[in-house]
Amino acid sequence: MNASEKLDLLDIDALTIIHYPDPRLREDCTAIEIVDGRIHDLVAKMTDLMFTSRGVGLAAPQVGVTVRLFMASPTFDRDDLHVYINPEIIHTSGEQDDEEGCLSFPSIYCKIRRAQSIVIRATNLDGEVFEQECDDLHARICQHELDHLDGLLLVDRMGSVARLANRKALKALQAEYAG
Ligand SMILES: [Zn+2]
Repeated sequence: MNASEKLDLLDIDALTIIHYPDPRLREDCTAIEIVDGRIHDLVAKMTDLMFTSRGVGLAAPQVGVTVRLFMASPTFDRDDLHVYINPEIIHTSGEQDDEEGCLSFPSIYCKIRRAQSIVIRATNLDGEVFEQECDDLHARICQHELDHLDGLLLVDRMGSVARLANRKALKALQAEYAG
C-alpha cells in the first residue's frame, strides 16, 4: 500500500499512541507523495497526542500510520514544533550520550549514543524541501524519530546492560500487548 492509500483509510479521531511490541512499529514506512489536507489533519492529531503525553517527539508509525513523517518540539512548546516529511539525515558530527525515552516504551529510559549535531533534509507542511542544522536534544530527537520510520526501536539501540536493567518493564509491555 502506498502512503496515499494508507491515508485514505485513516480514522483520525481514533488514533492513539501504540506501544511496543505492536508490529506496526516494525514496519519500514512509506514515503509521502503529496502534502495535502490529510497530512495536515494527521499532524494536528499527532501534535495533540504528543503534547498530551508529554513527549518531545512523535513519529507517524507510533500512531499506527506507517508513513515517513515525524515531529519534534525540543523545548516542549507548541510554538517550537518542527514537522519533517520524508526526512533524511545528510550530515552528522560529534557524539552525545544521554538518557532517552519513547512514548511507545512508557517508563523505559536508557543511555543511548547519538550524533551531537546533524543536518536534516525534509519536506515541510507547505510541501517545500528544507534543510536544518540541529544540535543536542533536537538532534537526538530527530535521530530517534527517524529510526522509527525504519522500524528501529529503543530496544534495538540498548546495550545488553540496559536491556537487562529494563527486562521487567519490557516483559510487562509484552504481556500488556498480548492482552
Ligand atoms: Zn520513540
